Amino acid sequence: MLVMKFGGTSVESAAAINRAAEIVRTRVSQNPVVIVSAMAKVTDQLLTMGQHAGLGQRDRALELSRSVRERHYTTAGELLGTGIFTQFHTELEAEFDALDELLRGIAAVGELTPRTTDNVLSFGERLSSKIITQAFSARDIHSHLVDARECIITDATHTRAVPLFDETNARLKNRLNPLLHRSHVPVMGGFIASTRDGITTTIGRGGSDFSAAIVGAALDAERIEIWTDVDGMMTTDPGLCSDARRIKVISFEEAAELAYFGAKVLHPATLLPAIQKNIPVYVLNSRNPKCEGTRIISQSPSCRNTFKAIAAKKRITIVDVVAARMLGAHGFLRAIFEAFDRHRCAVDVVSTSEVSVSLTVDSNEAIPKLAADLAKIADVKYEGRKAIVCLVGENLRGTPGIAARVFTALGEINVRMISQGASEINLTFVINEDDVPEAVRRLHAAFFSELDPDVFE
Ligand code: ADP
Ligand code: ASP
Ligand code: MG
Repeated sequence: MLVMKFGGTSVESAAAINRAAEIVRTRVSQNPVVIVSAMAKVTDQLLTMGQHAGLGQRDRALELSRSVRERHYTTAGELLGTGIFTQFHTELEAEFDALDELLRGIAAVGELTPRTTDNVLSFGERLSSKIITQAFSARDIHSHLVDARECIITDATHTRAVPLFDETNARLKNRLNPLLHRSHVPVMGGFIASTRDGITTTIGRGGSDFSAAIVGAALDAERIEIWTDVDGMMTTDPGLCSDARRIKVISFEEAAELAYFGAKVLHPATLLPAIQKNIPVYVLNSRNPKCEGTRIISQSPSCRNTFKAIAAKKRITIVDVVAARMLGAHGFLRAIFEAFDRHRCAVDVVSTSEVSVSLTVDSNEAIPKLAADLAKIADVKYEGRKAIVCLVGENLRGTPGIAARVFTALGEINVRMISQGASEINLTFVINEDDVPEAVRRLHAAFFSELDPDVFE
């Protein structure tokens, strides 16, 4: 079997869903499980609705809900024709009525908790998966809707819940294998899950890729296909640099670093389940299905280029912590990291001197409280609007003189922190957010003007 995941833009309209159906049709004999995102922009709109409702702005929330409802009705109508749509309409209507009811409830209380946020956000995938299952069936693909919340079980960390793998794997096998044996095509919403008690959770923004990998690993898939709106993983975000080129093949380790440091094309957790079961992951373009995309495998072939790609992650804050008095370096560092842990701030880049430590974090909301906490043991300053830029490639291991080439390429762009990860396959530095486009362009010109044809298109 294989897993095919279609992202938001790949199911954004009737035309996109038609394309997805034709792609699935080419794989039906290989027993696909289809994972779908919410239609493009819908998760953001649901979040906005929830926030309006949380501020007591009930009518604004309901107005936005109405436009999202219209879009889904129109799409379903176009896909199904009036006959089937008339029957199906009541089912969609019930979902939207439930959403509106929920929004009214949130507005009445005037508070949006993480738990209700997850409930609101879940409607995107609940709706898209329903419509897509119907559309596939109407096109003679024997599809079967599976509610992801019955199979993917997580803890209760709402908005970024963590899967409980034993339970999830067992449930996925029980639910999906019988369908696959009957040659049905299970269709599931990505991103959504539930706790053991059946409370709806979500696994983090962009998490449908992760859902696909969870399902693929549970069922020992031959491959996991991530269908999106670009030709594959590229040498950098094509939205940042028009010279970006497709990477034909890349290792799990390299792709995971890129995803972690901002290559949004893959959710950072996606590759973990795939690595554990050694399942190849393909990134493919639903608008250009003939393109071979990117193959992500355990070992990448040798490559003449030093780097495979450049990633950038914005909205980073640097926290500078200066010891008022040296407490003994180990005690000091431990106290600092414990504070970051208490405030659930993941640290990406660290640089230390004898009396100070600089760390980067991306959870901006927690920083004022974290800083107040740290102020008990040190002088603390923090500065936002930074970005991490990360160059990734296995050839970095043991190649001398690379850092010098990187900093020459950057010229006068001010670099605040530098780090070379312990994995030795990334070179990471921190700059001002506004400098990202220029930095990426310069680095791309310096390292990707000549490309190894075995690895890049
Ligand atoms: P989907 O809705 O299919 O999940 P996403 O928007 O989450 O799609 O991810 C695809 C986008 O990721 C691309 O449109 C591109 O702008 C962005 N992106 C960032 N870095 C890269 C990269 N290195 N290669 C390809 N795409 C990238
Ligand atoms: N719809 C969710 C989001 O926009 C999950 C996903 O598309 O991967 O974050
Ligand atoms: Mg995505």
